[in-house]
Amino acid sequence: MKFSDLGLSDDILRAVTDAGYDTPTPIQSQAIPYVLMNRDLLGCAQTGTGKTASFTLPMIEILAHGRSRARMPRSLILEPTRELAAQVSEQFETYGKYHKLSKALLIGGVSFTEQNAALDRGVDVLIATPGRLLDHAERGKVLLRDVKVLVIDEADRMLDMGFMPDIEKIVRLLPHIRQTLFFSATMPPEIRRLSNKFLSNPKEVSVSPPATAAETISQALVTVSAKDKRRTLRNIIKSESVQNALIFCNRKRDVGILHRSLSRHGFMAGALHGDMDQYSRTETLGQFKAGKFNILVCSDVAARGLDIASMSHVFNFDVPTHADDYIHRIGRTGRAGKQGRAITIATSEDSKYLDMITKLLGYPIPAMENSAADQDDTTADASDKIAVAKPEARRGGGSRGAQSTGGIKSSNSGSEHKRRRKPSPSKPADFDDGSSSMSFGEEGHVPAFLLRKP
Ligand code: AMP
Repeated sequence: MKFSDLGLSDDILRAVTDAGYDTPTPIQSQAIPYVLMNRDLLGCAQTGTGKTASFTLPMIEILAHGRSRARMPRSLILEPTRELAAQVSEQFETYGKYHKLSKALLIGGVSFTEQNAALDRGVDVLIATPGRLLDHAERGKVLLRDVKVLVIDEADRMLDMGFMPDIEKIVRLLPHIRQTLFFSATMPPEIRRLSNKFLSNPKEVSVSPPATAAETISQALVTVSAKDKRRTLRNIIKSESVQNALIFCNRKRDVGILHRSLSRHGFMAGALHGDMDQYSRTETLGQFKAGKFNILVCSDVAARGLDIASMSHVFNFDVPTHADDYIHRIGRTGRAGKQGRAITIATSEDSKYLDMITKLLGYPIPAMENSAADQDDTTADASDKIAVAKPEARRGGGSRGAQSTGGIKSSNSGSEHKRRRKPSPSKPADFDDGSSSMSFGEEGHVPAFLLRKP
């Protein structure tokens, strides 16, 4: 199948060729013809499958004719995180380069003024995170009754992050007659129920069985005591040929602690989580993508959809409390047919979560051979103790303390071990919409780790 067989116009085909793609991916060849027929679509597809172009390309085609009116967008794409929203926006730029479609990005953490100005000019494509969109809608700055195409992307993620009540509110503001495209990496019963509610006689397309790990990812599990986790991680990083890696923590404050610990031990690391202001997040991601540092400690905000070419490793410094997150985290490596490595560090307290992952995968994560945990890094964590203690010393110091650690907000007490005894699996690690305000930090801040010399 070729792109030219899908019913797309010459201008879009030209933009696709310019982007360097010659063959549609399976989700694209299955979905695009139906979207062009104005059918509702239920797509079961993970990020990394070309899912974004499967809706952006036909949307450009559909929206090519017609004009937008002030504050009345003609289409709406809902994304769970600012990063995903920004990536979708970039794809509209790429594929829509021969069209004059206007778009606006409504995400938390950036000023309302520019967003209002864009809405006033009229937008063909509105890309938004749910909270910020509702903020605008409640202020009367955006009217959704002219929306012809609605995309709900990463629906299972939206559900996990607690966004579904917002989504339901938003859908009530839309006209009944519209086209709805609904994408989810997994189809648990609640997602099925919502898709039945939002979609009308949808065409279902599925490109890989729900929640499977790519075969290109070599997985491994190391079990250690809680106090040995950081040392184990360092040893493994040293023993594996890590080109670049994402290291996932379950909690934002642990992202900060681990980031500081790795930096103290000489690793070139950055940090990314949902409490960082938008400027720092964009900067950090840009620097990571450009190879300014090769280790990014992150929370699940980075797990979905981030498209970073050739990620050699993913580490789970904490076992995720939702099995789906395991699939999404490790899916950041082994993309587009490349080999990847995903290593999970567990403690004896994680058995419940590991059981759920085993169930989802259909097999247990294989134990790591020759565990590097036992190897040479004897720099026991005296310096880590300082790293843990430091945020406490800064308590009450406002955002400055947070800024100097790469935008980490942390004022918690208690040892890592103690914290681990109180997991809160029902509360998402990153409630990411950040709809109303920046949590801390100031625009223009350069995170401390970027000032280190490579
Ligand atoms: P997505 O699943 O939308 O996050 O896309 C994953 C990556 O695949 C992105 O870098 C896209 O630019 C890329 N991509 C999308 N469609 C194609 C295609 N037909 N051929 C090659 N790469 C593609």
